[in-house]
Amino acid sequence: MRKNILAAVLLWLMGITATHAQTKPFTFKGQVVPAGTRASFTVPLATGAGDSIWLPFTILHGAQPGPVLGLIAGVHGYEYTPILALQQLPDMVDVPFLRGTVIVLHIANVQAFTGRSIYYNPADGKNLNRSFPGKLDGTVTERIAWFIAHDLFSRCNYVVDNHSGDGNEDLHPYAGYYEYGKQAAASRAMAYVTGFDWIMPAPAHLAKGEQALYCNREAALQEIPSLTLECGRLGKTDAESVNRITTALLSIMRHLKMQPGEPLKANQPFVVTERATVKSEHTGILKTAAYAGMLVRKGMKLATVSDFTGRVLQEITAPVDGVIVYMLKTPPVNKGEGIFSFGVLPSPQKE
Ligand SMILES: [Zn+2]
Repeated sequence: MRKNILAAVLLWLMGITATHAQTKPFTFKGQVVPAGTRASFTVPLATGAGDSIWLPFTILHGAQPGPVLGLIAGVHGYEYTPILALQQLPDMVDVPFLRGTVIVLHIANVQAFTGRSIYYNPADGKNLNRSFPGKLDGTVTERIAWFIAHDLFSRCNYVVDNHSGDGNEDLHPYAGYYEYGKQAAASRAMAYVTGFDWIMPAPAHLAKGEQALYCNREAALQEIPSLTLECGRLGKTDAESVNRITTALLSIMRHLKMQPGEPLKANQPFVVTERATVKSEHTGILKTAAYAGMLVRKGMKLATVSDFTGRVLQEITAPVDGVIVYMLKTPPVNKGEGIFSFGVLPSPQKE
């Protein structure tokens, strides 16, 4: 018996040694990361205006072969909890025991981050998460989208794009994925090991001539198993949200057999299959006591939009029985903007 155990351990060690010898360095944009090590560096990107910006990366390259997982934060630069989670995550991964490779893009839109700008890159006024697949010779935001869609996604077997409620948005955490393509089941499986209790599948079908626009949708259209994680709200940096994100990402790595241990198991999550939105009919001031995660009944009064003198222009009531997934929470509102996004609750069974 004891001999058998010794033999098994020896075989396991020989296996690890053999895989060590087989694992090549990981090269990315001129950086060479030896097996079993990590490296942090920036990748320059020409803006087309004669200067360049840069994208901050950390790559963790395991000693054993396995998949390549791309983790992105800061597509929106005012969404801090995912950015802070990806600051912490590299130190939480046991690189000598890592199978495969993790590519961390710490902040996709550094100009929006340093400019403290919600939604838009102050350099060109574009929303990176409405710019995919981007343009090789476009504006700076379009070039970042192109870089992610081509240079980064071409190296990834799995992708997680990490967001939160933006600086002006309240949000209940959820894992979103596209029920699209041959990778849909793999994306769904990732969503179910995040530990998030709300899961949102969405279609990714495109009309003729339509573009992906969203980072995760671009990954889905490239048939890469992928997720959007949404966790955090209102420009906050709370440790609870940051921890939920790192916990979810480490669980995904265990699910993909990249790290030892068991992934989290879904405990009857609420799967939101139908959504509803309410848009603002006016530019003005939003007043609301509603909050993300709130259960609403159809017709319930939720908010008003006033002009700048306080005259009410629009009264907003819940259009469905449902829950508020995310919503604008700060006063400024523009005509045509979505104020509320609801998850619709299934109708009670009729007798
Ligand atoms: Zn976002």
